Amino acid sequence: MSSGLLKSGTRGTSQQQIRATRLLAFEQQQQQQQQQQQQQQPPLLPLRGPRWSLQVGHQCLSSGCADLSCCLCKHNESRRCKTDLKAKYVTRDYLRSNCGAGLLLALVDESGQRCSQQLPGWKLQVCVLDAKRYKELNPGNAPLGFDALSPCILDKALLRWEAGSETAVVSLPLEYGQVCLNELQCFSISGEHRPGKACDYRLAFWIENQLGIAPQVSEPFTVVCLRSRAAVKSEVPLADEPVGRLEGIGEQAVATLKTLGQQLSHGSGLPLHLASIEKVGQFCELIELAKQNSHLEKQLLPLFKKADWKKATQHAAIAVSPDFRPRVWWCPDSSSGSSSSGSSSSGRLGLLFRCENAVVQIQRPFAWVHRPPSVGLGPSGPDELRPFIHPGQQEQQAMALAAQDWDTPGHGSWGVYWKDTTDPLAQGGSSSSSSSTAG
Ligand SMILES: [Zn+2]
Ligand SMILES: [Zn+2]
Repeated sequence: MSSGLLKSGTRGTSQQQIRATRLLAFEQQQQQQQQQQQQQQPPLLPLRGPRWSLQVGHQCLSSGCADLSCCLCKHNESRRCKTDLKAKYVTRDYLRSNCGAGLLLALVDESGQRCSQQLPGWKLQVCVLDAKRYKELNPGNAPLGFDALSPCILDKALLRWEAGSETAVVSLPLEYGQVCLNELQCFSISGEHRPGKACDYRLAFWIENQLGIAPQVSEPFTVVCLRSRAAVKSEVPLADEPVGRLEGIGEQAVATLKTLGQQLSHGSGLPLHLASIEKVGQFCELIELAKQNSHLEKQLLPLFKKADWKKATQHAAIAVSPDFRPRVWWCPDSSSGSSSSGSSSSGRLGLLFRCENAVVQIQRPFAWVHRPPSVGLGPSGPDELRPFIHPGQQEQQAMALAAQDWDTPGHGSWGVYWKDTTDPLAQGGSSSSSSSTAG
């Protein structure tokens, strides 16, 4: 259900630029679609044919792919979203997906084709449902009509659009059958009534005065009050975040980890730098260590609830570290038929790119790299680098191909350009392969 609404192409030097280019591409595509449809359809027959339905999605802005084993995106905290909404928000947060995109509501016809008509006066309405009541009423999450939904509607001012005031129902004009909800804020039912309690919501969407179009319901999500901000877990935890950001690590576990050295008996094998664990990165190290040292693991496990420990280790497994290693895109090898790993008689030519927090700066290549061919069984000579400041025509052409390649599964001939064999980021990619002998 997520993304789905649109794919896009090029990337910018920063997240904003990525967004800008994607939005531009998106708008251009929209215009093209509109033009095409206007040419195909007689303009004066509005809404006779299509039977519209409402579709919920978002236009994913993430720069990383969804493949958890991808070594290029392993430390990118912006991975392709699997859902349209995050699981948890703090009151007043904008209801956006993990990549930062707002929900996109769009009318589609029976064949899934997006609406291209102007539909003056048509309005999308949004309100908040009590997710618990909804679940009781509709455990299978079957499509419900408006009347069936109405007992779940929360008649409280829980939404706000842009700078407007808080309201129970937000009403927005549809433009060409769609509206992007990037300015929609949601509130918890205020602390006075349910102090500290999290509120479980869903959003309901419908088109005003169009009873023929079935309402849609979002995925469930939780909104917590400001005081519980610290309890909000990270979607993708960062190595230098507090360990409490991990699923399953509550206040008590945080306290236990902070004094871990004192909790374990002498000779547990716990290294000194893990005697007090406060960061996600340290916790990851502890897990790795416990995997290799059953004695340590045996002492460790009774300190935590089994289910919580499992949740925490699973969540920690996707933690990311700052990754600034340059990336290389190897040019297609024209002289030899072989693909990514092939090297021709003249060696290989590649383009080097900067990388910030595992986000490839695809508009900022900084050097050509030439890897000489290997001689016999021996290693090839050292790489030759030819740096440049501004990409010229040749570089622009290569960049376009590189960008295309990035969007293919496995990222084509892209790779990490970093030779250090003790590179900690290259370790532990697959569960058993590395023999981590650092220090
Ligand atoms: Zn997304
Ligand atoms: Zn990837």
